[in-house]
Formats: sequence, structure tokens, C-alpha cells
Amino acid sequence: MFVESIELKNYRNINSAKIVLSPGVNIFFGDNAQGKTNLLESVYVSSVARSHRGSRDRELIRFGEEDAHIRLFFRKEPLSHRLDVHLRKNHSKGIAIDSIPVKRSADLMGVLPVVFFSPEDLSLIKNGPAGRRRFVDMEMSQLDRLYLKNLIAYNKILTERNNLLKQINVYPALIDTLDGWDHQLIESGLYLIRKRREFSLEINRIMKTIHSGISGGKEEILVEYDPNTTEMDFRENVRRNRNKDILSGSTSCGPHKDDLLFSINGIDIRRFGSQGQQRTAALSLKLSEIRLMEDRIGDKPVLLLDDVLSELDVHRQNQLLNHIRDVQTLVSCTGLDELVRNRADTDKIYRVRDGNFSEYKEDGTEE
Ligand code: ATP
Ligand code: MG
Repeated sequence: MFVESIELKNYRNINSAKIVLSPGVNIFFGDNAQGKTNLLESVYVSSVARSHRGSRDRELIRFGEEDAHIRLFFRKEPLSHRLDVHLRKNHSKGIAIDSIPVKRSADLMGVLPVVFFSPEDLSLIKNGPAGRRRFVDMEMSQLDRLYLKNLIAYNKILTERNNLLKQINVYPALIDTLDGWDHQLIESGLYLIRKRREFSLEINRIMKTIHSGISGGKEEILVEYDPNTTEMDFRENVRRNRNKDILSGSTSCGPHKDDLLFSINGIDIRRFGSQGQQRTAALSLKLSEIRLMEDRIGDKPVLLLDDVLSELDVHRQNQLLNHIRDVQTLVSCTGLDELVRNRADTDKIYRVRDGNFSEYKEDGTEE
């Protein structure tokens, strides 16, 4: 699968643009604050209906404008499709595929699978568990609509339950209503736990091979699901923690506290790994994400590499570029460094200036 072209209107600092892409590697280079990330973000928004930066829809609209348009033509062999996203300041967004409206954002998931890779992802292993949960959730949501449905439900119920716990402190009679919430929490939570367990096994299998390759066979990596509670114990744990939860006004057990553990040659690398090991493992993890998606949907996702190359040393840059030879990639960078410029399979290069995109030829001319 690949994006053939992107048309933007009033999207962030991009007034109007039409960009034709190659199915291979597409480079967007330019100074800071010119619109490189904005372009990559627009592809992400077309894929999962929201920004990777967590921005609200109205923030994506160019300052002073009422609405913004993203139009993508993408090829899913043997056909080309058109995807439209219409962002409106005071209304919810409209999405259509081949002119047929997509009613709920969740229905868009998986239509145009993408993997977004930013410098923060290189800290996925070093940082706290929230980022790792987000990683799993984002991947699973694209692969399994029921997962997304249960995730949305779980988070909503969790908030409601926490509010109720706080109220019970003041109005103890409300405790009678807690059973209903507990039941729903467990229902949706069990689905998340089961799917996260399956995901961890799958990503572990893929990552083992990729990481072994990247580390020259020296490191054997293991990814393990570290659930806060198992499927079997969830119900009992919720019951047992009830009084504690009422006192603290928050839910103490459930998949909202899950984690993923990474170890190399038997050592937990979050706690004991070197910075380099943690970053390399994070790179393997992102590369595994691409393969897992491919295995599941039988088609390749689009890779969005936002400013990542400059964060990697030459060895890791090469590892990354070698692994994505057959995946359409949009790369943003501030300079056209030698490595990128000399790659025979860098197919299109655009210079980004003040929200404008001009194609940059090997001989230095632009059009
Ligand atoms: P860097 O190399 O620093 O990452 P970049 O080229 O990726 O830069 P972007 O993140 O794409 O830069 O942002 C480009 C500009 O878009 C920023 O100066 C930002 O202020 C501007 N911008 C963001 N949102 C809007 C908006 N809604 N309307 C107009 N401009 C916006
Ligand atoms: Mg940027």
C-alpha cells in the first residue's frame, strides 16, 4: 500500500499544496518550523483520525481559517482510492473514502495503516510505562477495531468509576451502584488484557529476529507482557481492592497499569541497559511494529520518519534504512546529509519552505 499524492488546504502553516509521492523513500527537508512535521502529521491524521501530537482538530486548521482539507490518493493494489478529511472549526470532522462518508472515526482504522516514528520513540524503553501502553494501544487499534472499541469503553468507565469512588466517600449509599461499573470495567478490561498478551507474543517473535540482526547476533532480546492483573485474577482483584479504591478515590488494578518488559541476554534493560542498548531496542521495536502490521493485514504500512535519522548514528541509520527498503517512507530532516542524498532508492526529495513544497533535483535545481 502506498500514498500516491497528498493535497492540503489550510492545514496548519500549509496554505495550499499538492505533493506527488513515490512508492519508495520521500525526503522532506528544510529549516525548522517550515511545515515538515505538519505534512507527516496530515498523513497520520488521514490514517487514525487524530494527530500524533495530541492536538485538537481545530488546532490543525490554519490560523484565521474556518476549515481545512486533506485529500489523499492511495493505492491498495489493484485500485486507487481517495480519502478526504474535512476539518471544521466548530463542527466535528467529516471523513470520506471514495466519496462515501465514514461515520465514525473508528471505522477509518486500518484503511491506511501507518507507523509514525519520532525521536521520542527512541526513549520508549527508557521512559515510563504510559508510553509503552500507548505504543501497544496505537498499534492494536489499527489492527483490531474491537480493541479500539474496548479501549475507548475501558477508559470511559475508568473515569466514571473513579468519579464514583470519590463520591462514595461523601455519600456512602452510592456504593450500591459500584457493581455495575465494576462489571463493565472487567468486561472491557479482559479484552484488552487478552489482546495485549497476544500482541506481546507476536512482537516478541518478530523482534527477536530483527534485534539479533541489528546487534550482529550479540544480543538476544525478550519482550514480555507485564500485566497489572491477569485475566484470571482481575475480577477478584477489583473486589478485593474495593475499600482501598474508595479511600484513595481511584482504581488500583487493571490494564491501565500494564507494562511491557524488555530484557537483553536475561537483563532488564529499562533498569540496567546502557543508553545505546535502550535506543537500539527501541529502534528494533519500531521496525517490528512495521512487520507485525504487514503480517496482520497482508499489506505494508506507510512509514512516517519524523526527524529520526539525525538522532541515530551511521550504523543504526543504515540498519533502519535497510529494513525499510520495501516500505513507502516519508522522511523529514533539516539537512540533506550524505547518506540520504547518496541512496539510489531515495526517489523524491522536496524542499519545504514556509509551508510550500518544491521538488528538488539531484543537480540542485528545484521546481
Ligand atoms: P522542525 O524542523 O523544527 O521540526 P517543522 O518543519 O517540522 O520544523 P512544523 O512542526 O511542521 O515544523 O511547524 C511549522 C510551523 O507551523 C510552525 O512554525 C508552527 O507555528 C506553524 N503552525 C502550527 N499550527 C498552525 C496553524 N494551525 N496555523 C498556522 N500555522 C501553524
Ligand atoms: Mg518537525
